[in-house]
Amino acid sequence: MKTPCLILAALTASLAVGNARADENDPRNWIGHDRTRPQPPVVDPGQPSTPDRAGRAPSDALVLFDGTDLSQWVAMNGEPTRWIIKDGAMECVPGSGYIRTLRCFGDVQLHLEFATPARVEGHSQGRGNSGLFFGLNRYEIQILDSYDNPTYADGSCASVYNQYPPLVNASRPPGQWQTYDVIWTAPRFHPDGSLRSPARVTLFHNGVLVQNNVELIGDTGWVTRGPYRAHPEKLPIALQDHGNPVRFRNIWVRELGRPGRPELYLADRLLEAYTGKYQVNEDRVVEVSRRGGNLFFQWAGEDFLMFATTTNRFFAKTTDIQVEFRREGDEDVAWFSVGEDPGWRAKKLR
Ligand code: MG
Repeated sequence: MKTPCLILAALTASLAVGNARADENDPRNWIGHDRTRPQPPVVDPGQPSTPDRAGRAPSDALVLFDGTDLSQWVAMNGEPTRWIIKDGAMECVPGSGYIRTLRCFGDVQLHLEFATPARVEGHSQGRGNSGLFFGLNRYEIQILDSYDNPTYADGSCASVYNQYPPLVNASRPPGQWQTYDVIWTAPRFHPDGSLRSPARVTLFHNGVLVQNNVELIGDTGWVTRGPYRAHPEKLPIALQDHGNPVRFRNIWVRELGRPGRPELYLADRLLEAYTGKYQVNEDRVVEVSRRGGNLFFQWAGEDFLMFATTTNRFFAKTTDIQVEFRREGDEDVAWFSVGEDPGWRAKKLR
């Protein structure tokens, strides 16, 4: 048994490691001009766009759309989207629904270019409406034709919808390419679902600062605001179908902070196929369930939220649980491990 002193020492050591990690960029932890301070990684900054030509992303960005393919995007349920590619741009097909990224993102720098329809139709919220969403469908940065098109201020282009109007209206005329450069900080939640820290956003519209590190008060919505509803830190980014053929090009993202391993947000249909009871041995059955786009693995009476790294491999973040689903012969099987154990093969019950 550990003495209190040893426990305190172990705790202090772990805190020291934690602090060193958290504070490695704190100037008070370095002397001035410290020669041992790590050099920043070298990044090719790419090229900005011109009106006729999309630019090139920085070398450390993940390109979400380069004008040629929709492989990073799906419909909200994970099935292929009906949005189309035309003349190097991705175009919303009215009535086809929102689209989202396959990958999940937490804190990011995001660059996106959009053009509202050159042929002006409708007015107010009905004209060139789309939206950039973080947190899957929770937090909208409005996209709208706000060039000489009055609407409510907190719903105009570059607003945090229903919360913050932009500082200025920096819109270009309809049909012209416009840019968004966003710094997004995802909200964090305590294990009991209460808010630990709110979402924050900084936005440049056509290079002009329009949102200066504002703090979201919760979910954005048409008639109701917030409150925050707990969700995983990393979720897909989405684009809105609001019934107008808004076009997009040159979309890229840089993950900030410590993003950890890549996470996928799988199709509902695929997750559903994994749900059910699995026989581990004669007296043990484990259950896999789904709530929305999240899979849960039941172990020792607890439901563990699982995160996908591939289409069939999952891990938990609160305990070292790994699960891999496989088809073996005519059996559906879950291979799983908890901590250092050698792992189990569990056959799905029909
Ligand atoms: Mg919108």
